[in-house]
Amino acid sequence: VSAFGRRRDRLRDLMAAAGAEAFLVTHLPDVHYLSGYSGSNGALLVTADDQALATDVRYELQAAQECPGIDVVITRRLVPDLLGWVRERGIVHVGFDASLMSVAGWRRAGDDVPGVELVPAKVDIAGLRMVKDADEVAALRQACDVSVRALEALLGEVRVGMTEIEVARLLELRMGLLGAPDRAFDSIVAAGPHSAIPHHQPTARPLAAGDLLKIDFGARWDGYHADCTRTFIVAARPQDWQAEIHGVVEAAQQAGIAALAPGVRAAVVDTAARRVIEDAGYGDFFGHGLGHGVGLEIHEPPFLGSSSPNTVEAGVPLTVEPGIYLPDRGGVRIEDTVLVTEDGPEVLTQFPRDLARIG
Ligand code: ZN
Ligand code: ZN
Repeated sequence: VSAFGRRRDRLRDLMAAAGAEAFLVTHLPDVHYLSGYSGSNGALLVTADDQALATDVRYELQAAQECPGIDVVITRRLVPDLLGWVRERGIVHVGFDASLMSVAGWRRAGDDVPGVELVPAKVDIAGLRMVKDADEVAALRQACDVSVRALEALLGEVRVGMTEIEVARLLELRMGLLGAPDRAFDSIVAAGPHSAIPHHQPTARPLAAGDLLKIDFGARWDGYHADCTRTFIVAARPQDWQAEIHGVVEAAQQAGIAALAPGVRAAVVDTAARRVIEDAGYGDFFGHGLGHGVGLEIHEPPFLGSSSPNTVEAGVPLTVEPGIYLPDRGGVRIEDTVLVTEDGPEVLTQFPRDLARIG
């Protein structure tokens, strides 16, 4: 049985517990997780002993290659045709995740295929996806490894006067040259006052000596997302305030990583890091959560935040990314992708964290 077959078996356990004899999967990362299909249009239907993938003709070859052993239905009407497929097997009720389908889509599907009913079912695929199997961890390791090697190469290329956009594209070129098919998300390159904006989009502003330079980026590998942030000082010695907030964020990140252990509540991990920033007097300048799970999506459960319902488990990769953002002056974030193991946290994005000089 392939990794995908094992994952579908775990889904079938959840389906049985929820009383669903068939389940419709429309969220593409879930489809990828359960079938191996990585195209941008598709849906999957799973029954107790069978499964079918629907996609359109553009992906016919890809689906056949990526999903050996799965019935592939080529159609422009994914959900109705999958419901027709399941009706032929004598199944009347098909479960689906009500949080992932619009009311309009649900009504339409019901009207199109008489004799089959779509019924909301408590089958939590996001929960299934939290603990990664060996194949997933291998892909994530590769994504993280390529990311830090690209950042290393970038260090020698950044110069005063380059724009944020140029730095972002150079870094992405490096990841591509190292074999990454794509970046994990839009790279954040934020210099000077822009570094105080947590999700700044790169601009044509040129780097100036003395700027803090915050770079948040990652590679995608086999669909898996790396996520890493480092903050540098451009062509100068840091001023006292820059060194101070960097030191506080570094200490907070260490406290957050150290708190990652199986069985620990996500809120407790958030607090461990946040307290360091609060005690240093910067609590008002760290507005976002401490981190998030990564996998087939860049942001997925578990979420590290004060109101998170999640618990940390072995086999779960997540980010630890505290920051301090001083409006109009500058900001620092330090972020790593970390795998929780029985033996403690393992940092997958190994790269020095000090306030290094660049340019
Ligand atoms: Zn990030
Ligand atoms: Zn992140």
